[in-house]
Amino acid sequence: MIIVMKPGSQESDVNEISRVLESLGLGVHISKGTERTIIGVIGDKRVLSDVPLELMPGVEKLVPIVESYKLAGKTFKPEASIVDVNGVKIGGKELVIMAGPCAVESREQILEAAVAVKKSGAQFLRGGAFKPRTSPYAFQGLEEEGLKLLNEAKELTGLLIISEVTSERAVEIADKYVDMFQIGARNVQNFQLLREVGRSGKPVLFKRGPSTTIDEWLNAAEYIMSEGNYNVVLCERGIRTFETATRNTLDISAVPVVKNSSHLPIIVDPSHAAGKAQYIAPLSKAAIAAGADGLIIEVHPNPRCALSDAAQQLTPQSFDDLCRDIGQLAGLLGREFRYGKGE
Ligand code: PEP
Ligand code: MN
Repeated sequence: MIIVMKPGSQESDVNEISRVLESLGLGVHISKGTERTIIGVIGDKRVLSDVPLELMPGVEKLVPIVESYKLAGKTFKPEASIVDVNGVKIGGKELVIMAGPCAVESREQILEAAVAVKKSGAQFLRGGAFKPRTSPYAFQGLEEEGLKLLNEAKELTGLLIISEVTSERAVEIADKYVDMFQIGARNVQNFQLLREVGRSGKPVLFKRGPSTTIDEWLNAAEYIMSEGNYNVVLCERGIRTFETATRNTLDISAVPVVKNSSHLPIIVDPSHAAGKAQYIAPLSKAAIAAGADGLIIEVHPNPRCALSDAAQQLTPQSFDDLCRDIGQLAGLLGREFRYGKGE
C-alpha cells in the first residue's frame, strides 16, 4: 500500500505517520516527488485494521499496490530513479557506457582496454574476475588477482569499476575493489546472493536471466531493494528464444516495458544478446533509441585471442566508431554522451 500525501503537506505529518507505522512493525519508504510525498508501507497490513490512516493530517488517499514487487514499482515511486555511482549518474540525461573485456586476463590486456574505452567516452570499465562459465573446464577468471588489476586500471584512467559477483564469498572479496557489483544472468534468482548485495548497500547492475519474465525479474530486484539497497540498475541482455542466428534474442521491448512499470534505470548489454561482434552496433543504437539509459559492451584489445566470448568482443576501433555514433544519436534523443571526452 502507498499513502499519497496532499500537495504541500507538512514534514511533521509525514514523520508522525512514519512513527505510527514503525511502531506497528511496518517498513516505511518515503519518496519525495516534486509535487507530493508518497509513503510506501511494507509488511503485513492487517496490523493497520484499527488505524484510521486516511484521517491523519496531510493524507490525501491510500492506494493498494497490485504488483507483487513494490519498491521496484512505479506506484511506489512514480519519478524515474537516478543511481549515483561515485559521481556517475545512471538514469539521468547522460548516457552511461560500461565497456571492457569479458574477463580480466592480464595486466597488459586490462590496462590497454581501459585506456582505449576511456578515450572513447566510457565511464565504467567492466571485466569479469569471477566468471560463471557453461563448462567447469573453461577459464574461470583470475578472481582477486583480476580485481587488483581492475583497480590498477582505475588508478591509471579514473574509470569506475564494475565486475560480476557469483557468490557470497565473491561479494566479500570484490567489495573493496569495485564501484558497482554486477549480478549475472545465471544468478537472477539466486535469492541469497541478491540479499547479500542488498545488504552491502553498493550499487548493483542486475541482469535479466535468459528465461525470466520481466515480472519475475522485477520481483527478483525487490530482493535486493528489500534489504534497503535502492541503488539497482537493470540490464537487459537477451533472452532465450527459438532463434539461433544470435546467441540470445535481445528483447528491446523490455526497455519501454520496464520504463512503464518501474522507476529503476535500465541499460542494455548487446554483447551477450548478439554473441557476434557484427551485430553490436545496430543493437546498441536500437537500445538507445528505445530509451535505454546506457550500454554495457565487451571490448578487447585483441578479440581473437580472448579467453572467453571471443566472437562478441569489439576491437577498440569498432567501439570508438560506435561511441561516435552514440554521441550523435544522443543529441537527437535529447540525451547526452560525451564521445571522445575521456582524455
Ligand atoms: C558477463 O557480463 O560477462 C556475463 C557473463 O553476462 P551474462 O550474465 O549476461 O551472461
Ligand atoms: Mn562475456
